[in-house]
Amino acid sequence: MDEEGAVLGVDVGGTQIKWVLWSPGAGVLGHGELRTPRSGPPAVLAAVAELIGDGKAGAAGVAVPGHLTDDLRAVRLLPNLPGPWEGLPFAAELESRTGVRVRLVNDARAFALAELTLGAARGRQDVLFVTMGTGIGGALALGGRVLRAGGDRVGELGHMICRPGGPACGCGSRGCLEAVAGGSALVTAVRAGGGRARTPEEVVREAGRSGGLERSVLETAGSALALVLGNVVAYSGVSAVVVGGGVAPAFAFMRPAVEAELAARVRLVGRVDLRLAELGSGAGALGAALAATTRAPHPTNGEI
Ligand SMILES: [Zn+2]
Repeated sequence: MDEEGAVLGVDVGGTQIKWVLWSPGAGVLGHGELRTPRSGPPAVLAAVAELIGDGKAGAAGVAVPGHLTDDLRAVRLLPNLPGPWEGLPFAAELESRTGVRVRLVNDARAFALAELTLGAARGRQDVLFVTMGTGIGGALALGGRVLRAGGDRVGELGHMICRPGGPACGCGSRGCLEAVAGGSALVTAVRAGGGRARTPEEVVREAGRSGGLERSVLETAGSALALVLGNVVAYSGVSAVVVGGGVAPAFAFMRPAVEAELAARVRLVGRVDLRLAELGSGAGALGAALAATTRAPHPTNGEI
């Protein structure tokens, strides 16, 4: 059936679906990507089922940009893809179409699992993971395991409030870190200041060209990130922070504020290792593959 126990990891993103065929013994056997259909869940389901159903993998892990139900079989909240995703039995649908066992995983938790197992946090036990993209996601590993619990929100530091009464967030609250320092928020802030950046990448590029406005927006966002990271590090006891995601280059402009905040708390938190992720944009798909290799088909709360 499968190549050396190969598993397929699929990362369903807002714009692209990335996949990797991976085996514990041979590593990456293949990878690729396609555009995410925007017409709704049936088209996304069909595209993912086609990837899984080609017969190369004995199991599949699928990362989604949202929160899963407690049994990890369905989507509970998935705001960044068009269509009615809530309650959709994604795993069962894929299994019935392909005959392959499917594990669902949140995309930030998949990123964390990959970086913890094969990337920047290899060999570490207690690590906070931050994903910088359109929004800000995260995950927490303690004792060498990426944690999860009911509600699938462990590690979601993007919704910690850093500016009480601040900008409205997609979650319904105000002043969340994501609403201040997420990729969309960076673009909004630059445009409000008269800048012309249309994407977070352009904000970072302009800041690198000594764009004063863009640099100041990133530094302001950095102070918000520093506040949240300082709190989370103090609270969780992690000794390392790994930053990744498509907008991670923005972290270069935020790092001084984060380092200053952690230095101010050194008596409590000790020396905290700040690292950039190592596995690139394929980390989510790789983490989904790793999740699919977990023995228990539907793990209970505690870890992914
Ligand atoms: Zn929020």
